[in-house]
Amino acid sequence: SVLYKPQRRILQSSRCLYYNNKRYTLLRMVDSTATSQPYLTLNNGTKIPAIGLGTYLATEGDCKTVVREAILNHGYRNIDTAKVYENEEPIGEALQEVFAAGIKREDVIVTTKLWHSDKLDIEGALRTSLKKLQLDYIDLYLVHWMVPVMVWEDENPIKGLPIHKVWAELERLVDAGLIKSIGVSNCAIPILVDIWSYARIKPVVNQVELHPYFVQKDSVEFHKKLGVVVQAYAPLGSSTWSLRPERFKDLNLLAEPVLVALAAKYGKSVGQIVLNWHLWRGHQVIPKTTKVARLAENIQVWDFKLTEEEYESISGLNQDARFFNPKAFEFSGWNHLPYFE
Ligand code: NDP
Repeated sequence: SVLYKPQRRILQSSRCLYYNNKRYTLLRMVDSTATSQPYLTLNNGTKIPAIGLGTYLATEGDCKTVVREAILNHGYRNIDTAKVYENEEPIGEALQEVFAAGIKREDVIVTTKLWHSDKLDIEGALRTSLKKLQLDYIDLYLVHWMVPVMVWEDENPIKGLPIHKVWAELERLVDAGLIKSIGVSNCAIPILVDIWSYARIKPVVNQVELHPYFVQKDSVEFHKKLGVVVQAYAPLGSSTWSLRPERFKDLNLLAEPVLVALAAKYGKSVGQIVLNWHLWRGHQVIPKTTKVARLAENIQVWDFKLTEEEYESISGLNQDARFFNPKAFEFSGWNHLPYFE
């Protein structure tokens, strides 16, 4: 047999062969530990990789392949999805394959999110996500948007669950062992502080839009003091041009001259420079790609440093340009909602 098992590595079956009527499996090496990338510690002691994989707008086939390759061959150990991304099923299939290949369940942090139309049956929504993801528990469950009113009739909100009741229900589901950690997303500081004041189980992260055009300096500092990890979504500026407010439509982060120059100086891609800047600021990042070829590029972003002046010059690109602005969304009657920011 060609079996070979050095410490801290596991073996992934790929092909088999026969010899003397016995079946031998050909194996290729898989790094099971992903020790090479930095981890952040959440306020409940859980360690989360500083770089995860985003999956918004990842379509079915792409999604399964990319998630499987990310975990098996590129050291990713955090996958970010949401009920509303409609890709929990292919992600579940990919997870089954990587666990079958020897990756340990406890080494992978799976994030999914509660959509606001589900807030009257949170356990039902969670169990549906668990079933699709083929998991017994979710590592990190986030309230996707902090909008309180969830049942609609003729585009009018008629019934809702306030956030303190949502939170109490999430705490109950943590107690029941269905969730390991709970957090928020798109949560303005007054709401976060309010939750903090009554939460028995504190939010561990706030997943918000963050990139060099939308730096949110004071907010990030506040989260650090509170002990809530900031997860940067749209870390590369996102591809969701259609959602952007009109005045930001011409912004193209990855073509910014200051970033292009730094990429040339350090022999990195522009995306790597941006992701490295996020790590320097202490964010957890979840860049999305559907291209296997980009997986390595987007995770190999922690082993070099720019000068302080160069980091500051990237922060200087800030235009308070929020691309995901729910006030601009024109679906689901969101315009009627009290939006807390
Ligand atoms: P990103 O900033 O991650 O940008 C993704 C875009 O950049 C895609 O078009 C991708 O293309 C491209 N891209 C990826 N890597 C590179 C690279 N190295 N160089 C050049 N282009 C690159 O935006 P997202 O909006 O996807 O945000 C990331 C994740 O954050 C989401 O996938 C989702 O998981 C989460 N999110 C959460 C939200 C929330 O409300 N909580 C809202 C929005 C996002 P390609 O796929 O072709 O590689």
